[in-house]
Amino acid sequence: MKRILVTGGAGFIGSHLCERLLNENNEVICLDNYFTGSRDNIVHLINNPRFELVRHDVINPFMAEVDEIYNLACPASPVHYQYNAIKTIKTSIMGAINMLGLAKRTKATILQASTSEVYGDPAVHPQHESYWGNVNPIGIRSCYDEGKRCAETLFMDYHRQNEVDIKIVRIFNTYGPRMHPQDGRVVSNFIVQALQNKDLTIYGDGKQTRSFQYVDDLVEGMMRMMNTPKSFIGPVNIGNPHEFTMLELAEKIIQLTRSSSKITFLPLPSDDPKQRRPNISLAKKMLKDWEPKIQLEEGLKKTIAYFKEKQKT
Ligand code: NAD
Ligand code: UDP
Repeated sequence: MKRILVTGGAGFIGSHLCERLLNENNEVICLDNYFTGSRDNIVHLINNPRFELVRHDVINPFMAEVDEIYNLACPASPVHYQYNAIKTIKTSIMGAINMLGLAKRTKATILQASTSEVYGDPAVHPQHESYWGNVNPIGIRSCYDEGKRCAETLFMDYHRQNEVDIKIVRIFNTYGPRMHPQDGRVVSNFIVQALQNKDLTIYGDGKQTRSFQYVDDLVEGMMRMMNTPKSFIGPVNIGNPHEFTMLELAEKIIQLTRSSSKITFLPLPSDDPKQRRPNISLAKKMLKDWEPKIQLEEGLKKTIAYFKEKQKT
């Protein structure tokens, strides 16, 4: 039995990861400061004797004896990461330093939840891991993008300098049940708006693209990455390569919810990437033929069902 620390474990992705790790008979320590996560996301796990919940902020050191660390603590939605930009950078950088220090002392393998945002507004399409990105260092998204880029640097330097066992995954847009209804990200916004028959808010002309991955596919990819040989550290893209415009997404959600909502167009926030699609050939090769299994329509149906249920409570 392994003891596994999940930082940001009460968040959207973290809660699914904690659940899967428990199902595979591990001990799980879920650490969270509840900035965007909540106890509701993991309440169904609390009675499990192999589950431990700790309120803690990763900008402060944390002590425990662990075998593996998944470092997810960081707000992920632009609305939340821009709310306190300085805190976001602190979380990414000081959080990485504290968790890498813990990994160094305990000799745990540590996996960083990095992001496709390290590619910025990409000039190369689709994005391959060898692309260094096109990130504005002084814009409103920089606190997140540069924080995550610096965390990758810290991971690499702890690996080179201190031989810490690291893994880096670059996660592309992920959606599913337990996204926060006021999260501000496009899938949750559109579903909540459609269920309330309110206008769906498209930022810009809606021709920008994203590639949406269902959360179960991501969790599978992250766990496979953790279990690769020591010599494979990544970074590796984990995402679904099917690419959609925001207009297509809005229309699909209106159709699936049978909503009477219309579409309204709002200004595009600055530095909003125009296109994004992962090249996943490295993940396929190194993660035992991993590839996304759940395509958009099926994943949206599950997510819509979750938000419908949530509305009743
Ligand atoms: P989320 O906001 O639901 O989860 C983040 C969790 O981290 C929350 O529970 C929050 O309370 C916690 N947290 C934030 N700051 C903290 C701090 N200082 N100390 C302790 N806990 C803290 O977002 P998510 O979508 O589940 O994202 C999880 C991770 O995956 C993040 O690191 C994010 O950058 C990364 N990621 C997500 C996506 C995506 O599309 N969802 C894409 C790329 C990368
Ligand atoms: N977006 C939108 N309407 C919304 C929320 C987001 O059109 O209500 C757009 C946003 O401008 C971006 C895309 O949807 O082009 C994805 O946004 P999200 O915040 O989900 O992810 P990110 O931009 O971080 O990839």
